[in-house]
Amino acid sequence: MRYSGDSAMAKETTSDTGAQTPVMRQYFAAKQAHPDCLMMCRIGDFYELFYEDAIVASRELQLTLTARDREKKQPMCGVPYHAAEQYIQRLLRKGYRVALCDQMEDPKLTKKIVRREVTRVLTPGTAVDASLGAEQSNWLASVAASGAGAETRVGLALLDLSTGEFRATEFAGATAWAQLTDELGQARPAELLVAESGLAGMREGRQPTLSDRAGKDGAPGSVGEEAFEGVRTKTALEDWVFTAEYAVPLLRRQLGVLSLEGMGLGGHETAAVAAGALVHYLQKTMQGGLEHIDAIRFHAHDEGLTLDAVSVRNLELVEPLFSGESAQTTLFHTLDACMTPMGKRLLRATLLRPAAELGEIESRLDAVGEAVGDLRGREGVRRAMNGLLDMERLLGRVALDSAGPREVMALAGTLGCLPGLRDAVGKFKAKRWTELSGGDPSQVSESRPGAPSSEVGQSSAEISTGFSTGRSTGICTGFDAMEDLHDLIVKAIVEEPPVSFAEGGVIRAGVDAELDELRELGRSGRQALAGIEERERQRTGIGSLKVRFNSVFGYYLEVTKANSRSVPEDYERKQTLVNAERFTTPELKEYETKILTAQERSGEIERRIFAELRRQLLDAAGRMRETARRVAEIDLLACFAHLAALRGWVRPEVEESGVLEFVAGRHPVVERRMEEAGGGRFVPNSISLEGWFGKDSGESSGASIALITGPNMGGKSTYLRQAALLVVMAQSGCFVPAERMRLGLVDRIYTRIGASDNVARGRSTFMVEMTETAAILNTATARSLVLLDEMGRGTATYDGLSLTWATVEYLHEKIGARTLFATHYHELTLLEERLARLKNLRVTAKETAGGIVFLHTVEAGAANKSYGIEVARLAGLPGAVIVRAREVLKLHERAETQQVGAALARGVGEAMQMTMFTPLSQKIVDRLAEVDLDGLTPREALNLLAELQRELGAGS
Ligand code: ADP
Ligand code: MG
Repeated sequence: MRYSGDSAMAKETTSDTGAQTPVMRQYFAAKQAHPDCLMMCRIGDFYELFYEDAIVASRELQLTLTARDREKKQPMCGVPYHAAEQYIQRLLRKGYRVALCDQMEDPKLTKKIVRREVTRVLTPGTAVDASLGAEQSNWLASVAASGAGAETRVGLALLDLSTGEFRATEFAGATAWAQLTDELGQARPAELLVAESGLAGMREGRQPTLSDRAGKDGAPGSVGEEAFEGVRTKTALEDWVFTAEYAVPLLRRQLGVLSLEGMGLGGHETAAVAAGALVHYLQKTMQGGLEHIDAIRFHAHDEGLTLDAVSVRNLELVEPLFSGESAQTTLFHTLDACMTPMGKRLLRATLLRPAAELGEIESRLDAVGEAVGDLRGREGVRRAMNGLLDMERLLGRVALDSAGPREVMALAGTLGCLPGLRDAVGKFKAKRWTELSGGDPSQVSESRPGAPSSEVGQSSAEISTGFSTGRSTGICTGFDAMEDLHDLIVKAIVEEPPVSFAEGGVIRAGVDAELDELRELGRSGRQALAGIEERERQRTGIGSLKVRFNSVFGYYLEVTKANSRSVPEDYERKQTLVNAERFTTPELKEYETKILTAQERSGEIERRIFAELRRQLLDAAGRMRETARRVAEIDLLACFAHLAALRGWVRPEVEESGVLEFVAGRHPVVERRMEEAGGGRFVPNSISLEGWFGKDSGESSGASIALITGPNMGGKSTYLRQAALLVVMAQSGCFVPAERMRLGLVDRIYTRIGASDNVARGRSTFMVEMTETAAILNTATARSLVLLDEMGRGTATYDGLSLTWATVEYLHEKIGARTLFATHYHELTLLEERLARLKNLRVTAKETAGGIVFLHTVEAGAANKSYGIEVARLAGLPGAVIVRAREVLKLHERAETQQVGAALARGVGEAMQMTMFTPLSQKIVDRLAEVDLDGLTPREALNLLAELQRELGAGS
C-alpha cells in the first residue's frame, strides 16, 4: 500500500462522502486558476495528478494509473515528492507546463485539512536546471506583430533564462513571416509566447496576418503557421500584454533604462513589445530571480549567411535529419572539440549563421591560421580552458537564487582560470587574438573608425552569433579576468563549503567579527555540554547517560529505561520513549538557549554575507557575460585550429566573387564516420562553379549550374551536401577538408530534397517540395548557393520533369545562383546543349561481372545510362523482373531519343518541351479535345484529319 504511514490522505479523502472531498475542492480551485498546466498536488509524500492530467502524466512518465474511487472514474497517478524534480524536468522537456500545488502548513501541526496553494508554475521556457543540455540554449520566445502586407512587422524576443542572454529582432515587409520561420527554426525555442487572438486564429487557420500572405508577393504559403508548428509549447497571453503602452514601459523598468534607444531598440517597437510581453510572463510565473536580466540586444537581420530552416534540417548542421538517429551525423558533432559549454553554444550558433562579410571571415581565419601553426600556443590556450565551467549558467543560477555555496565556489574556481587563459591567448599575434585578450586597445579602436564607444554600437553580427567581431570591439579595454570577483568569493567562503546553510560553516573565519564570536560561543557551549555529560555520569552512576540534541526537543539527557530508577530528583521529565527516557535540567536549558541563539544568529549572519556576495556578483553580471562571450570565441577559434591541425584541413581562400571551387574536397561528416567505422576511404571530389551576376556584369566564364546524374547510391547527395558544408565551414572561419578551396562569399544556402516525406505535418510530399522550391525561386540571389536533390519526384513523371526543367531554366536565366542539381531524370542532361552556363557532371560506377561498383568520383559528362535496374538487381529483385524491365526500358529509350532528337533538330523551344515529355499519342488526343466540332466545315475536318495523320507519321 502506497499510503501506509500516511494517514493524512485517508483522513482527508474519506472525511467527505460527497463527490468532492476537501482535497479535491482545493485541487479544482488550483486547476481552474491554471487550466493549461499539469497540476501536481502534494498529498503526503507524493505529488498526485488527477483526471486528464493523470492520464497524460502516466503516459509520458510511464507511471501506473490508479483511481481514487472504486468505480475508477477518477484516474490518478503520483510521484514521490523527493524525486519529483526529475519527473517535472521530463515533463517540461516534453513541452508541458507544470504547476505545483503545495501544502502550506505542516500536516503534523494541524488537525484540519492542510491548506494547499500553487507555489510554482514551471514551463519549458522558464526551466532552469542542471540537466539542460550545455551546448544548447534554452530559449523562451515571444512574437509580436503589427501591420499587414508590405507594412507587416514581426518582432521576436528570445531569452535564455539560464544565462540571462536576452535579444530581440524584427522582420519587416512581405517576407517577414517567412523570416520568422527561419529564425524560429534555428533558435528552436522551448516555449513561445503569442497573443491570445493570434493563437486562437492560428488554430482555426483564419488569422489574417498569418494566412493572407499565402501566394501574395510570391511568399510561400502558410509559413507562419509552420513557424509556430515547430514549437511544442505555445503559451497564449492576453492581447493587451502585447500593446506598446503596456509592454514597452515594463521592459524599460525591468532593464532599468529610460530609453530603449541605447539597446538598439529605437524604431523597433514591435521587437520591444515582444520583449516586454516576455518580461510580463516571467514576472507572472517566477518569484523574482530576474536581476540578471538587465540588458537586451537588438540585432538586425541582413547580416550573416542565411540558412533557412529547411536547409538547416537537410544539411544536418546541428541535428540529425531523422529524430532518433544518432547525433553523430551532424556537422556540429564533427566539429565539436570545444573545451567549454560557452564554446559549444557559440559553435552551434555560428554554424546556424556563419558570417557573410569578408573582413570578419578573414580575421577569424587569420586567428585560426596562427594557432594551427603554433602547437604549443594552441595547446596552452586549450589547456587553460580545461575545467572552465559554464559561467553564464552559473551566473544565472546565482541570479535565480538557486546557487548554493558550492556553486558559488565553483564559479570562483572558473574565475580563477581566467588570468591563465588571458595570458595564454596573449601569446598570439593575430589581430583577432589581441582583441580577445585585450592586448592593445588603440589598435582595436582603429579597426572601427567612427563607431560609438558605448555598448550601443555593438554590431549585429556579434549578437547573432555571439562573436564579438572586430568591428565591435571598440568597447573592449581588455580581457576582464575578474580577479576581484574571484577574490571576493574565496575570501568569503570556506574552501569546501557544505551544500546548504543548515549546518553553518559556509563563511570563512575572519570575515565577520560577530560571526567569529558567536561561533566561539557555540563551541564553548558544546564543550560545556560535554563536561555536563561527564559530570552527570559520575553523579548518577549511569554510564550510558548521554547529552543529546534534536530539532524538536532541543538538548536533553537520555537515560535507558533500565536506568530510569537511578535518575536524581532535580531531573525534569521531557519525553518517554519505548526504551528510554529524556530529561532536562535548568542548567541544560540555559546552555541550550545560549547555543541555539548563537547558532541562529550566526546562521543569519552567514546568510546575510552570502546575500551580499550574491548582490556583488549580480552587479558584475554584465562583465561576466562579456568575458563569457570572449571565452566562447577563444574556445571556438582554438577548436577550429585544433581540428585543422589534427585532420590536415586547409585555409579556404575567401573572396568577393562568384566562385565556388574546391579541389579534392571531402564531406567532413561522412569522412569522419567512415574513419570511425574503419570502412573504406572517402573519395575526394572537386568542383568549379561561378555565379552569374547578370548580363552587365561582364563575362563570367564558368558554369553556374552543375547537373549531376548517375546511379542511385553513386554519391550525388553526398557531393551536394559536401559543397554546402564546406561553404558553411569556410564562412564560419573554419579550415576545410580539401586540398584547396576558393569561395566567393555566399549570402544564402538553400537545400531541397525531393520526395521528403512530411506526412506528419499533414501536407503532401509534393506540396512541400513545391513550397520549398517557390521559396528558393523567390528569394535566391546570384550570390546564393542552391542545392536541389532529386527534385520533382513527388508527382507524375512528366509533371515532375517539366517542373524541374523549368526550374533549372529559371535559375539559369533569372537568378544565376551557383546551383548543384542532382537528378534521376536523365532527360535533363540535354539541357547542357541549350543552357550556356550549365554543365553535366556524373558520379561514376563500374559494371563488373558481379554487378555494379560505385566509384564515388564525380567527373564531367552525363551519365550514359540510368543504373536503376542494376541497383534493383543488387537489391535482390527476381531475375525475371530484371530481364523484363530491361526490355521495357529499351523500348522507352528508343522512343524518347527519337522524340527529343527531332525536337532539338527543329529547335522549337516551347513546343520541344511539349513533345519531349508527352507520350506519342498525347498531342493528338489534346488536339482532338480542343477542336470545336460544331464550328467545323466538312472540308476543315478533312484537313485536320490529314494533319493529324502527318503528325503521327513524323512522331513514330
Ligand atoms: P546518391 O544520392 O547518388 O544516391 P549518396 O550520396 O546517398 O548517393 O551516397 C550513397 C553512399 O555512398 C553513402 O553511403 C555514402 O556514404 C557513400 N559515398 C558517397 N560519396 C562518397 C565518397 N566520395 N566516398 C566514399 N563514399 C561515398
Ligand atoms: Mg541521393
